[in-house]
Amino acid sequence: MTFTTIDVRGIVAPFAAIGKIFEHPRTVCYPAQTKTIAPDYRGFHTNDLSACIGCANCQDVCMNDAIDMITIAEERNARNKSGCIPRIDYGRCCWCNLCVDVCPPDSLALGQECIHAAPQSDDFLFFPKDAS
Ligand code: SF4
Ligand code: SF4
Repeated sequence: MTFTTIDVRGIVAPFAAIGKIFEHPRTVCYPAQTKTIAPDYRGFHTNDLSACIGCANCQDVCMNDAIDMITIAEERNARNKSGCIPRIDYGRCCWCNLCVDVCPPDSLALGQECIHAAPQSDDFLFFPKDAS
């Protein structure tokens, strides 16, 4: 004599999803709605160009080689003798914050902007927004 077992739980469980229809949605209708970003969130960098001294400490410490020092046409402040400022490759950055920790004048920071969509990988290479 053989017994067949019926997976009652497997049959009933999908119907539990019906109850979710009456729950408050956990997602937002972006871009019409946005979520509040946590104050200490690590988003894209900002750089106070009136304070950045072009020392390249940030480039040296970056373990992911995500920072290139780029010569800018105009020196942004008298203390920036190298005439270079950092550019970030967000295809490499892991938002570890080390570059921010070693910045002598505290010009570099991680901001709250975190959304960027682009079809080309080169579009993920950009200068931090000027925070001066
Ligand atoms: S946050 Fe970390 S990975 Fe990103 S650029 Fe700075 S040091 Fe490099
Ligand atoms: S951002 Fe800070 S660490 Fe990087 S070059 Fe400027 S002053 Fe130096």
